[in-house]
Amino acid sequence: MAYNAWFSCINGCPGEYDLREVIYRCPTCGDLLEVQHDVEALKSRSAAAWIQLFDDRYQEGMGGALPRQREHRVDVRGQL
Ligand SMILES: [Zn+2]
Repeated sequence: MAYNAWFSCINGCPGEYDLREVIYRCPTCGDLLEVQHDVEALKSRSAAAWIQLFDDRYQEGMGGALPRQREHRVDVRGQL
C-alpha cells in the first residue's frame, strides 16, 4: 500500500521535502520543518487490518523465540 510522509514548514510555507533529504529549516522563512503524514492513506486501512498487520509482523519477529521462553518459565517455577 502506498503511504507517504514528508517534511513541510511549521508556518505553512509552500513546499514538501523528502524525509531522506538533509534539510532542517524551511528555505523560505528559516523556521522548523515538521513531518506531515498522508492521513488519507492511513485511514484507508481499517483498524482490523492494522491489527492483523502488526500481529503478522509480531509472529514473524518472534520466530522460534516463543518455545524457548516457555521452557524458561518452567525452569524458574522448578527452582521455587
Ligand atoms: Zn517556512
